[in-house]
Order: sequence, then structure tokens, then C-alpha cells
Amino acid sequence: MPSAFRRPDSVCVYCGSSNQADPRYLDAATQFGKDLAANDMRLVYGGGGVGLMGRVARGAHEAGGRVLGIMPDFLRSREILFDEVETIVVPNMHERKMIMFQESDAFVVLPGGIGTLEEIVELLSWRRLDLHQKPVVFANLDGFWNPLFQLFEHTIEANLTPPDFREAWVSVDSIDQIIGALTKPAEAA
Ligand code: AMP
Repeated sequence: MPSAFRRPDSVCVYCGSSNQADPRYLDAATQFGKDLAANDMRLVYGGGGVGLMGRVARGAHEAGGRVLGIMPDFLRSREILFDEVETIVVPNMHERKMIMFQESDAFVVLPGGIGTLEEIVELLSWRRLDLHQKPVVFANLDGFWNPLFQLFEHTIEANLTPPDFREAWVSVDSIDQIIGALTKPAEAA
């Protein structure tokens, strides 16, 4: 465990692509985009203009922040590529995730669906294998991620995941706690 998080320059955000998400979650994504811009942290994300993804990117971009989108070619129309920001178009999902990982110093998880889950579980499994030590912060708005945390705990209690996996991530209850959690020691976040 690092004793303190370094202040990240680039922050990857995993979040949902649905426009039907709770408006509070969509607004939270906009707010976090603005917070990244205000803290001069670059947003790295999936490149889409829809759902929370689109909102976090627009929030950051319209507040003058730096944004890098990574979009697989076959999803350009479905996820409505947000072309007002720097975007890398890649051939497939694996490249997308790898570049998102390589370009980022820290990761933030907002509410999302199966795609968000897939991305965060891979990132945390890499952490379990000591392939990285990058901070991961869940925005657990309204307890959104509690069922996932319970599942993690279930696998720990069954001796299938090591107990120190609990240190692989931190959870905060509100958007305005995320930047602090990215820059504080994990145990104080
Ligand atoms: P969702 O949470 O289902 O709305 O998906 C959020 C984002 O994750 C969308 O941009 C999806 O395209 C993306 N996504 C889903 N599965 C994968 C995957 N295997 N690799 C990379 N991105 C993915």
C-alpha cells in the first residue's frame, strides 16, 4: 500500500452510458467533470457523448478542463463519439481499456451498468495481482455500489479473495469528497 496517494494528473472515470439513469446521477457526473477541470486534472474516459459518460466529459470540457476519450471504432455511433475533445479511436474494447489504464494515474467509479462493472472488476483484479498500485475511488451515491461491496466481502469471507483486497479501493458518499479521496492517504479517505 502506498502511504499517500500522489496527486493524480490524469483521472480515469468509469460510469454508465445510459441516458435513462437517475437525473441525480447524471447531474453528479456533470459536477465531477467540473471538479476535475477546477483541479486541473485531465479526464480520461470512454469517449462517448451519452449517459454519465457524456455528462462528465461535457462538464469537464465546458469548464475548460483537459479531456481524453478512447473510443472503439464500432461504438462510434452507438455511444455518440464526443468530438469536441481529444479522442483516440481504437479497434476494440481491449485496446480501449488498456489505453484508459495506461493514460491514467487514478480511477473513479460513478454509477454504471454492466460495462462499468466489467471495467472496474478487471482493474481491481489487476490490483489484486499487484500489477498496479493506482488509487481507485468509488462514488457510492445513495449506496449505489453497496451490493458490489457485499459481494467482495462475501468472497473474502469465503477465503477466495485475500483480506488485504479491502485496501484496493476506497468509497466516498458524495461527489465533493472524490478529489480529497484521490489526494489523501487511503486510510484517511
Ligand atoms: P455501461 O455501464 O454498461 O453503460 O457501460 C459503460 C461503458 O463501458 C460503455 O462505454 C461501454 O462501451 C463500456 N464497456 C462495456 N464493456 C466493456 C469492455 N469489455 N471493455 C471496455 N469497455 C467496455
